[in-house]
Amino acid sequence: MSVRIWKWNDSYVGFSFTCTTERDEAERPQCMICNLVMSNGNWKPSALREHLRNKYSNHVGTSVDAFKLRRIRYDLGKPLLEASSKVLYTITKEKKSHTIGETLLKPCVLEMAKIALGEDAVKQLSQVSLSNDTVHQRIKDTSQDITTQVVSEMKQNHAKISMQIEESTDVSKHSQ
Ligand SMILES: [Zn+2]
Repeated sequence: MSVRIWKWNDSYVGFSFTCTTERDEAERPQCMICNLVMSNGNWKPSALREHLRNKYSNHVGTSVDAFKLRRIRYDLGKPLLEASSKVLYTITKEKKSHTIGETLLKPCVLEMAKIALGEDAVKQLSQVSLSNDTVHQRIKDTSQDITTQVVSEMKQNHAKISMQIEESTDVSKHSQ
């Protein structure tokens, strides 16, 4: 079954999305409100519109020009966002309490920056948000996105999945 792979188009900025380039060089839409990245090749423009409609109905009437301005500001802030994401990812991966970002890591980083790099670095790094809310929101959005995509893939591949279920048998060769 072939799935159409959608490519980024600048008109999607009207759905509050910008374009982000992932480590695998793939260009993916990223929501400028919640930072969610559509994480595989199965997203489509209608999913971007739905995301805006379902999550941010108050933004539905926003003009494309306003979103374009937002995109410029958003893209300027991307290095800060990337730094924040990397740290939040490590906190989650190491199964640490989500509060250590702001209470422990950030003060340490700022202290190191102040001693080793100077006030300009402190100013810049203090803009990286490691707050509890950011962590929670990020985790929630990521898991929501995964659930949505799994369900949509299951719907698309329904025939294939039911065939596989029917064909599987247990050790006594009884159909499951
Ligand atoms: Zn969003």
